[in-house]
Order: sequence, then structure tokens, then C-alpha cells
Amino acid sequence: MADNIADLILGGDPCTHLLQEAFAFDITLTKIRCAVCDTVSGLGSLGVDGGPLQALVKCADCGSVLMRARRTQKGYILEMHGARHLYF
Ligand SMILES: [Zn+2]
Repeated sequence: MADNIADLILGGDPCTHLLQEAFAFDITLTKIRCAVCDTVSGLGSLGVDGGPLQALVKCADCGSVLMRARRTQKGYILEMHGARHLYF
């Protein structure tokens, strides 16, 4: 029995290929739907605020934070509380 997702993918489990496909894309080519105003925007066309430790992507229509990526000592954290969907 596999211990984690990496073991399942390397073992050729067909169910885990969906996860592998879902996270092997160019994020700048995706579209994102705002959870507040329902606007769909191309992620690559949106402005990014922040600095070396975090990036904030905001809705072009209402200014809500759609996505927040942070670099921590333990790794990366991606928060998407302000997004309803990501299309790719
Ligand atoms: Zn919005």
C-alpha cells in the first residue's frame, strides 16, 4: 500500500493522474473567477502586489484579493479564499 500521493503517481495509479494533470499547467494562462463579484479574468493579465515573500493577485473589477502566495521557512502556501474557480 502506498504511503502518499507521490507513491501513487509513481506507481501509475490512474486516479492520481488527474491530480498530476491538474497541477502541471502554466498558471499565467489560466482564468480565475472572483468569489465576490463573479468576474472572470485571465490570471496573466492581472496585477500582482507584494514582495519577495508574498504575492497578492487582486480582482481587476472589485479589487478583492483572489490569490495569495507566500514563501515560508517550511515551503510555499497558496491561499485562494477570494476565488470561486480556476479554469485551465
Ligand atoms: Zn471581483
